[in-house]
Amino acid sequence: MKISRLCWICNINIADTAEHALKKTDIIRGYGKASYHNLGEKQPIHFKNGKETKLQGANSDVIKNTKDLCKQCNNTLTQPYDFSYDNFIQYVINNCDLICERRFIDFEEIYGADFPSQQTNLFKYFIKSFGCRIYANPNFEVPIDVVEIIKNDLNHFTTGLKITMSINNEVKNKFGNQCFHFVGKTEMHYYNLTDNPDQFGFSFSEHIGWFFINYYYLIDINERSGTEWIANRKVLFIGELEEFNFY
Ligand SMILES: [Zn+2]
Repeated sequence: MKISRLCWICNINIADTAEHALKKTDIIRGYGKASYHNLGEKQPIHFKNGKETKLQGANSDVIKNTKDLCKQCNNTLTQPYDFSYDNFIQYVINNCDLICERRFIDFEEIYGADFPSQQTNLFKYFIKSFGCRIYANPNFEVPIDVVEIIKNDLNHFTTGLKITMSINNEVKNKFGNQCFHFVGKTEMHYYNLTDNPDQFGFSFSEHIGWFFINYYYLIDINERSGTEWIANRKVLFIGELEEFNFY
């Protein structure tokens, strides 16, 4: 019997919704909303732990985490974060040549004058995604700084989470500049921290085609993966990573 868990954000309500392990709008953008049965060879395949599963549709359980959030937290509270993320990814797709050429992203070009609050919401989307990834593994607890930022919808905060963004030329050369239907995440690594034995460090990446978003919690970033970002700069330089292991 599966015991239901509490929502990791409010820690009050039963978790009755599941955040998608891969974002639904990213899947729909690549493959559409209809059933994927008739796509034949083009039917998207999800790889996890060496196992292949054909996706039946964008709502497939395969790409959802187990139930981890309540409706209130997943929909009402964090919806502005999802919205900022969708706008961000759409910008990356629409401007992929420019991004590859310039190697930086200017958040004001994406969000206009409202960029300070929008980029904070984007960062909070990454925090939510990070929390869901950690919570999906029963051996780990979502770090308290991460919970507090989302639960209280903080606009000023300190956190152990750092983001970088990078280009992966191997994926780009293999699948082409427009390979944004190829979405996924890399394996999550965890680290023992000598100065903080009660807390693990974590790292993993999520990618839309060749565009990688890299997560580092309480560990140093790989400097080649781009400038460290905590929603604290308007212009973000993107790095380049060669190797990665698909999750
Ligand atoms: Zn909740």
